[in-house]
Amino acid sequence: MAALEIHQFPCLSDNYGVLIRDPDTGVTAAIDVPEAGKVRDALAAKGWKLTHILATHHHNDHTAGNLEIKAETGCTVIGPRAEAARIPGIDTQVGQGDRFKFGSFDVEVLDTPGHTAGHISYVIPAAGVAFVGDTLFAMGCGRIIEGDPEMMWTSLQKIARLPAETRIYCGHEYTVANARFALTIEPDNAALVRRAAEVEALRAAGKPTLPTLLADELATNPFLRAPNAGIRRRLGMEKSADWQVFGEVRERKNKS
Ligand code: ZN
Ligand code: FE
Repeated sequence: MAALEIHQFPCLSDNYGVLIRDPDTGVTAAIDVPEAGKVRDALAAKGWKLTHILATHHHNDHTAGNLEIKAETGCTVIGPRAEAARIPGIDTQVGQGDRFKFGSFDVEVLDTPGHTAGHISYVIPAAGVAFVGDTLFAMGCGRIIEGDPEMMWTSLQKIARLPAETRIYCGHEYTVANARFALTIEPDNAALVRRAAEVEALRAAGKPTLPTLLADELATNPFLRAPNAGIRRRLGMEKSADWQVFGEVRERKNKS
């Protein structure tokens, strides 16, 4: 099996579009379609022919180009069963535990609700990648818009339990702001201090900070580190449940 090809490109003001392709079969997917034009341009630049859209959630900045791109390419739209009515052009509904073939690769679906009630993530174990939409960001996580902290924490834990070498593709370039906030929660985390400087330099050079490595998130992302004793002490929440500590960190970020 040849390696999965992956092409990430900026869309709108701070979204990322991602194309993936199995070189053995030519099967090609867009992970979300924030805008039709940028996805069309990326396909043309690569010389790839789109066969699928894999939608993570219904927000307009992830689905706005679905119908236009589907009309142009005849692609199949796969998306979350729990919010299928809000995914333009959806053909195939998937949810937790579903598995489907993408060329020679198996794709596994995780339900990761919280940002939206039906949000899903796509994992391709043989390629060591996961596409998590607006659930997890580099040193951050999505706003809890349609769920509650316990639900979002449970979703984040599904991602956190993937192999540590998994490369995580996220919906937005929010990394610098996330790093600055993370430092207010864990100012003494040496890995975080180092990484914050790295991502500031990447952005200053106009480069993306994504994808991110799960191992780096486990070491630096305060939204995954609710069990950490130092964070609990700092928040005065030594005896709270992990999801409550997570909820407090999310609340502070909302106000930051
Ligand atoms: Zn969203
Ligand atoms: Fe988004």
